[in-house]
Amino acid sequence: MHISDAVFLEDLCPKFRFRQWRKSIHNFTGKSCIYCGKPSESIDHVIPRSQGGLSTTENCVPACLSCNGDKSDENALNWYRRQKFYDPRRAMAIRAWLEGDLRLAIRLLQWANPNFEIQNKNYIKDESEYEAA
Ligand SMILES: [Zn+2]
Repeated sequence: MHISDAVFLEDLCPKFRFRQWRKSIHNFTGKSCIYCGKPSESIDHVIPRSQGGLSTTENCVPACLSCNGDKSDENALNWYRRQKFYDPRRAMAIRAWLEGDLRLAIRLLQWANPNFEIQNKNYIKDESEYEAA
């Protein structure tokens, strides 16, 4: 991961920009949790802040509250590997996201979930009939 060329949120962070940034992160995945595919309600730090993770786009992924809370302070990839809904394509997507390759990440997420729509285009919330894990 290339922390040195990451855009530091703190550098450009009046509040409204922060909100826009959060929104754009959710839009990347069509507002679905990067881990399980349910609606994303929060932003999760892949590398927890307690372990030096930064609030950069590379380190922040859309996540549902249940994944975010369950993962808590653990390294996301380690945590994700143990989940029932583990999908190697999503694991690859998370890794690509971490490396700043959002385009690859999104492609992998689409592969993992054919109903997935980029940029939230045809995303209808009521259609998210994902099985509960
Ligand atoms: Zn989730």
